[in-house]
Amino acid sequence: MRQLYKGNFLRQKTVKNPCWEKQLIASFLLMADVHTTEVRSYNMSRIRAKDTKPELMVRRFLFSQGFRYRLHDKKLKGKPDIVLSKYKTVIFIHGCFWHGHEGCRYFVVPKTRSEWWVDKINTNKSKDKVAFKELTDKGWKVLTIWECELKQKALKDTFGRLLQNLIDNEEIANS
Ligand SMILES: [Zn+2]
Repeated sequence: MRQLYKGNFLRQKTVKNPCWEKQLIASFLLMADVHTTEVRSYNMSRIRAKDTKPELMVRRFLFSQGFRYRLHDKKLKGKPDIVLSKYKTVIFIHGCFWHGHEGCRYFVVPKTRSEWWVDKINTNKSKDKVAFKELTDKGWKVLTIWECELKQKALKDTFGRLLQNLIDNEEIANS
């Protein structure tokens, strides 16, 4: 598997202009006229929550390496983005802003309506904590991949680490 991995992931490029992205932009422009900034931001957060580009990158990588998985399993706390039952592992792919990535350059609270944002992000963070605890209590290994870890520079390390984690978790799951 590792051999295959080396050859494959280096060629991984980010997806260029899939048409759903264009549709999203179009619908944001429409919304701009009828909603307040607050409502629009909320809508954006809802839309962004599923099938985001970072998520697709991780899914494509795993699939190319022969992993098979379920998506957004509602039966599991926090509805993990990716579920690899054979490896007893769930993966959350978190936007650095929405989930408040501490010390990350992409986590900057907007100067206007700061309180509203901080409150919203803190809510997300506590939900993440609760899900993490419940899942680990049930024997799942919980991996979090931050959006910033999928930037070009960090990608090789991130996917290398992910693969190593999965190999380790498979051993634990089968022991
Ligand atoms: Zn980050």
